[in-house]
Amino acid sequence: MKRIYMDHSATTPVAPEVLQAMLPYFSERFGNGSSLHSFGLEAREAIEDAREKVAGLINAEPSEIYFTSGGTESDNLALKGIALKNRKKGRHIITSSFEHPAILEVCKALTKMDCDVTYLPVTREGLVEPEAVKEAIRPDTILISIMHANNEIGTIEPLQEIGQIAKEKGIYFHSDGVQSVGKVPVDVKALGLDALSLSGHKLYGPKGIGALFVRKGVKIESIMQGGGHEQGLRSGTENVPGIVGLGRAADLAKETMIDEAKRLTALRDSLEEMVLGRIDESWLNGHPTKRLPSNLNFGFRYIEGESLILLLDAKGIAASTGSACSSKKLAASHVLMAIGLKPEECHGSLRITLGRSNTKEDIDFVSQSIEESVSRLRKMSALGPR
Ligand code: PLP
Repeated sequence: MKRIYMDHSATTPVAPEVLQAMLPYFSERFGNGSSLHSFGLEAREAIEDAREKVAGLINAEPSEIYFTSGGTESDNLALKGIALKNRKKGRHIITSSFEHPAILEVCKALTKMDCDVTYLPVTREGLVEPEAVKEAIRPDTILISIMHANNEIGTIEPLQEIGQIAKEKGIYFHSDGVQSVGKVPVDVKALGLDALSLSGHKLYGPKGIGALFVRKGVKIESIMQGGGHEQGLRSGTENVPGIVGLGRAADLAKETMIDEAKRLTALRDSLEEMVLGRIDESWLNGHPTKRLPSNLNFGFRYIEGESLILLLDAKGIAASTGSACSSKKLAASHVLMAIGLKPEECHGSLRITLGRSNTKEDIDFVSQSIEESVSRLRKMSALGPR
């Protein structure tokens, strides 16, 4: 059976070019980037070369890139690092209610450390309104953190407008760019960002590596103490193969992004049209146009998303659902709840995220499989019409 992977927002395969670039750094070029001998220098050169490549992808300076273990750590470092360092200035943080847990859970932890967090609502299409950001600002606001693209529904946020507001008020502006970097152009200067998180495994790089962009001059404190690596901001011997892989992945993304985004947008739109055209009581979650080229998030009335995932998996198709099984009870997705769906509507969601391996043939097969599976589940369902 042919397997079709359409869950690229969960993770991506390591690109062959990335793997090739990484391999020597597991074996003959195994040096520690802090060592003074030739093995160390070889590793150091590779780290600095990768730093330039990552900076090049987001229009930053290489010295503004700090390698971390991934998106989660970058988000932790940005929020905790800025909040702790700027405590004397204020303790108020603004974010949105539909961020990834790597932001929301950090905010919860910061609340226990005497920070005050405002969670902004989002529109039905998943947009944070710049006006709402403006209204939430207080004299003690030190940080605004709004994700660039939502991981479930793919809506792309108006960062440039929010960045402008933050700049006018002298407030730091961070974005979780884990889902957008490598998929759509991200320019930290144009967006007015002071900090940006990104992750290797979402852009055809390896897992366990990521980076945080921190604009020069931003006051931020280390949350990992140790040997003072990464200009003292993130201690720990550098993951050289991972860093090399992230650098190569960033370069590849830069080369291919525009063409790939066009190709995926065409595939995405044709799948959307087929699914919504053929299945009754179905809808698209997220913004119709301001969305990632790779993302579709469907809602189907009268079905459970988990059952749909299992039926699709049996046909070789890997996708995901917005609702997650947590602590033995089915919890509705906080993202879908935030855009105003009812709990029963959240449970019938299907997230398809396209990527480099997907073709027009895949789209035809997947749309047909979704149609068959939804119809089968509705026939079995006690929830609604058969
Ligand atoms: N932020 C967003 C928006 C994500 O989608 C993810 C991963 O799904 C993360 C952060 C966490 O990234 P990582 O898996 O690299 O820790």
